[in-house]
Amino acid sequence: MPGHYNRIETKLIHAGEPRPLIGGAVSIPVFQSATFEYTGQSSYHDLKYIRLNNTPNHVALHEKLAALENGETAVVTASGMAVISTVLLALLGPGDHILTQNCLYGGTHELITKDFTEMGIRFDMIDGERPDSWAGLLRPETKAIYVETITNPLMAVADLPAVAAFAREHGLISVIDNTFASPVNFRPPEHGFDLSLHSCTKYLNGHSDIVAGAAIGKGDLIGKVLRKLNHLGGTLDPHACFLLHRGIKTLALRVRYQNENALSLAEFLNRHEAVEAVYYPGLSSHPGHARARDLFDGFGGMLSFEMKGGVAAAKRVIRKLTLPISAPSLGGVESLITRPATTSHAGMSPEERKKAGISDGLIRLSVGIEAPEDLIADFEQALAL
Ligand SMILES: *Cc1c(COP(=O)(O)O)cnc(C)c1O
Repeated sequence: MPGHYNRIETKLIHAGEPRPLIGGAVSIPVFQSATFEYTGQSSYHDLKYIRLNNTPNHVALHEKLAALENGETAVVTASGMAVISTVLLALLGPGDHILTQNCLYGGTHELITKDFTEMGIRFDMIDGERPDSWAGLLRPETKAIYVETITNPLMAVADLPAVAAFAREHGLISVIDNTFASPVNFRPPEHGFDLSLHSCTKYLNGHSDIVAGAAIGKGDLIGKVLRKLNHLGGTLDPHACFLLHRGIKTLALRVRYQNENALSLAEFLNRHEAVEAVYYPGLSSHPGHARARDLFDGFGGMLSFEMKGGVAAAKRVIRKLTLPISAPSLGGVESLITRPATTSHAGMSPEERKKAGISDGLIRLSVGIEAPEDLIADFEQALAL
């Protein structure tokens, strides 16, 4: 590795970059070649082939991503769901059991509760706030514990250090979906997590133009994941690797700006008389505030809020806003707004949503990198009666 550095801003630019530069190119070229000349490899997994995740575009990204979270190694995949499904299938088989947080990303929830149940993989859900309740759910066949850094859409922060400690104590593999925080705000390997997963579709790429995923963590586990990925085939295409590589370089600038933008907007909404409640870990009124302050380097770019007038008021605000685009997904440079009851949590019944504290009028905002003055002015006009 050239030079000496340990700050994330520098790693984003220099970690994993090929040296010497390939043909002198300052930006890594796209290796759009399915197969590569045979050079005497003896193992199938060492042949150079796009599906085997070892083109120069893959190798550079793997090194950069591992460096960002101080993990041992990393691997990229074709989407966030590709990494989640591949990791869990590498760790679990028929008869095995996993503990999962009770409020997961919709795709992950469906995968574990529906697809895995069909395959004979069992689960129990835990309350991330109550570590004392977890041991009672352990079985001899429990293999792993799975949580998210910041939950969607109420931005709860589980007792993450307790999750890593519980896994160590009981011989489980700890897995965390760190998408919402990004490596700028939280680095799970530094807190004892075995595997940190990302939908790189979101903050890591940051430009809403590809889907991609990544796992970062212990070398032996990533090795297992890589073998499973080679077999399942959820490989990231070299051109998407190139776009992710390009997007990542500005991660620290984007996320720090988004942290500030989201805090300004959360404070504005919290003061506004038409707003019933605001959910943002950066507000001292948020139940996860103290933990987020202790663990994170920033509170993130995601917030949600409820209007006093319920669903009708929520629909009106979304219609009147001119800057945030009404669309699912998050983490891009442009602000995106959704009602989780109609997008990310539409698969839940109204009763299930109510139990989880997600009202039909709840609005979720992914704050972009527009000027805070313009965003606040837009919300001011949209919230005016
Ligand atoms: C979007 C998302 C995923 C799934 O990622 P895709 O890239 O859409 O497959 C997983 N977890 C979280 C927290 C997400 O926001």
